[in-house]
Amino acid sequence: MKEKLLIYNIGQLLTLKSSKDTPRKGKKLSDLGVVNNASVLIQGDKIAKCGVEREVLRGIKRSSISKEIDAKGMMVSPGFVDPHTHPVFFGTREEEFCMRLAGMKYMDIAAAGGGIRNSARRFRKATKSDIKKQTRTVLKRLLKHGITTIEAKSGYGLSFDSEVKALEVIKELNGKQPIEMVPTFLGAHEFPDEYRDNREEYIRILVEEMIPYVAENNLAEYCDIFCEEGVFDVEQSRKILKAAQKQGLKIRMHADEIHPIGGAELAAEIKAKTADHLVAISDEGIRMMAKAGVMPILLPATSFSLNTGKYAPARKMIEAGLPVCLSTDCNPGSSYTESASFVITLACLHLKMSPEEAFAAYTINPAYSLDRNHLIGSIEAGKMADLIIWETPNYREIPYHCSVNLVSRVIKGGKKVV
Ligand SMILES: [Zn+2]
Repeated sequence: MKEKLLIYNIGQLLTLKSSKDTPRKGKKLSDLGVVNNASVLIQGDKIAKCGVEREVLRGIKRSSISKEIDAKGMMVSPGFVDPHTHPVFFGTREEEFCMRLAGMKYMDIAAAGGGIRNSARRFRKATKSDIKKQTRTVLKRLLKHGITTIEAKSGYGLSFDSEVKALEVIKELNGKQPIEMVPTFLGAHEFPDEYRDNREEYIRILVEEMIPYVAENNLAEYCDIFCEEGVFDVEQSRKILKAAQKQGLKIRMHADEIHPIGGAELAAEIKAKTADHLVAISDEGIRMMAKAGVMPILLPATSFSLNTGKYAPARKMIEAGLPVCLSTDCNPGSSYTESASFVITLACLHLKMSPEEAFAAYTINPAYSLDRNHLIGSIEAGKMADLIIWETPNYREIPYHCSVNLVSRVIKGGKKVV
C-alpha cells in the first residue's frame, strides 16, 4: 500500500483545474479554480483527492492515513513550473553587474568578450563535479522558492565536449535531487571565441555534429537559440532550428529580446513550442504567434536586472489570445534570481498582469509549454503531488509582499522537500 498524506485545514486552495484541456488564454487566464476550506489527499507520489474538506474526508478512515499536515488556514498552490532557466553554469559575473551600473550596456559588454563568452571560458575549464556542485546550489534555491519543475538549458559550453558536459550534468542530477529538469540544448547561445571570424563553421558544427549527437543520445527534448542582432540572425536560426526539428527535437527560442529582428515571426513559421523574452516583439509577430499556437514566455526579471525600463507587451499578447507563461530566466548574467514570487511581483507591476493571471502563467501554462500538462501545473486527482504550502492565507499577498519568500513548505511527488 502506498503511503497516504493528508493536507487539511487549507484556507485557500488554488487548484488551477479546468474543464478544457488547453492552456489558459484571455479571461480564462484569471481562473485559478480557488476552493476555500479545502484538503488534499496524497497517495504515493500522486494526488488522490482534493477539494472542499468535508467532501475529501467523506468515507475516508483517518486511521488509514499515515501522515497529516495542518495547513492552519493558509494558502496551498501547485508547485511553480519555471519554463526558461540556465542553471548549469560555473562562477558568477558580478563584475559585469558593476560595469552595467557604471553605464555599459549588456550587448556592449558581450561584444567586448564578456557576457555568455565570459561564462563559457569558466565553464570549459571547470570539472563536471565542480559544475554539479554549483548547479545543486542553484536548484536548492529554486526549490526553496517553490519551483518544483524547470526547463534547464545548456549553453555555456559552446563546444561539442562542453555542451555535452552541461547536458550530462542535467541528466545526472535528475532524480538525485527533488526538482525535475526538462533538458534543452542551447549550443547556439553565442558564437564562441574561436569562431568569431568563421561563424559558418560553428553553425556547421552545431548542425552536423552537436545536434545529431544530442538527439541520438536523448540528451535534450528541446533545442533553443539566441536569435538576436549580433548573435544568430533569422536566416542562421532557421537553418539550425530546422536541423534540430529533423532530428526530432522540439523548439524554444530566445526571440526579439532587444531588437525586433523577426524572431517571433520565425517561431511562428517553424511552429516552435515557445518564443521567449519578446520585449521588442512586433504586432505582426504577436498575430502570427497566436495563429501558429506558439506560447510566449515572459521574463520580467531580465528587463528589471538589465534596468532597461522596457518590458514585454504582455497585455497586447493576452488580448490577442496568447497563453502567456512567466519564468525567472535564472542565469548568471542578465537575470540572477531564483525567486518565482519576485517574478510575479514584476509581472504585476511592469507587465500589468493581475495576480490571478500571474499564477496561471507560472503553473498550468508552463506545464503545457513543457508538454507535461497531464502530470503537473494544477492540483487535480491523478496528477503529481507537487505543491506549495504558503505562509499567507491569500495568493494576492505574493506580489504585494514583495521580495520576501513566503513559501513555508514544498511537497514534490508526495514528499516534503522544503
Ligand atoms: Zn535565457
